[in-house]
Amino acid sequence: MLAGHYASALALSAAAPRAPLWALCIAAQCVDIAWSVFVVTGIEEAHIEPGFTASNGLVLAQVVYSHSLVAAFLWALGAALLAFAWRRDLVVSLAVAAAVASHWFLDLPMHTPDLPLAGPESVRVGLGLWNQPVLAFGLEAALLGLSGWAFSRRAGPPATRWGRPALFATLGLLCLAGYFGPQPDHIVPTALTGLFVYLTLPMLASRA
Ligand SMILES: [Zn+2]
Repeated sequence: MLAGHYASALALSAAAPRAPLWALCIAAQCVDIAWSVFVVTGIEEAHIEPGFTASNGLVLAQVVYSHSLVAAFLWALGAALLAFAWRRDLVVSLAVAAAVASHWFLDLPMHTPDLPLAGPESVRVGLGLWNQPVLAFGLEAALLGLSGWAFSRRAGPPATRWGRPALFATLGLLCLAGYFGPQPDHIVPTALTGLFVYLTLPMLASRA
C-alpha cells in the first residue's frame, strides 16, 4: 500500500484537527521512510521479483526493523514522544502515534505473509490482497475517498485555494499508478522514489 496510507493521515486530521496534516502524512509513512533508508543502506533485505504478486513484485526478505509489529509500536512510541516534545499536546501526540501504528495494520491486508510479528524468526503475516489487484485498488481508493470526505468536512479553511484539490489529485494519481502504472524492476530506485514521495507529499499537505 502506498497512497492508501495517507487515508489514516486524512482521517486522523479530521478526528484531531489540531494535529497538522503534513505531520500526520510523515507519521503515516514513517515505517516506509525507515524501510527505504534501511533497504538502500543494506540494513534490511528486499528485492523485486516480477510477478511475485499480481499487483507488484515486491519481495520483503528481512524487514524486522521497519515492518515488524513490535517495531511499528516502537516507531509509534518514538514519534509520539517527539510530537509531545514539539507541541506539548497529548491529543496531537496520540494522533501521530496512531498514524504511525496504522501503517502496519493497513499493510496487513495487502502484503503476502512477509510482515514479522517480532524478530527475524517470528511468525510472518499478511493477507495477500495484492494478489487481487481490483479488490486491493478498490479498498485503497475507498479508504482515500472516505477519509478525504471526512477531512474536507472537518478541516478548517485550506491554506491555499489550490492546495486541497492538488493534494487529492496527487493521491488519486499515486493510487492509480501503484496498480496500473509501470512497475519498477530494481529495489533501490523503488525505495528512493518512495522516499521522494514520502518527503515531498507532506509539503503539499501543508498547503491543503
Ligand atoms: Zn509499508
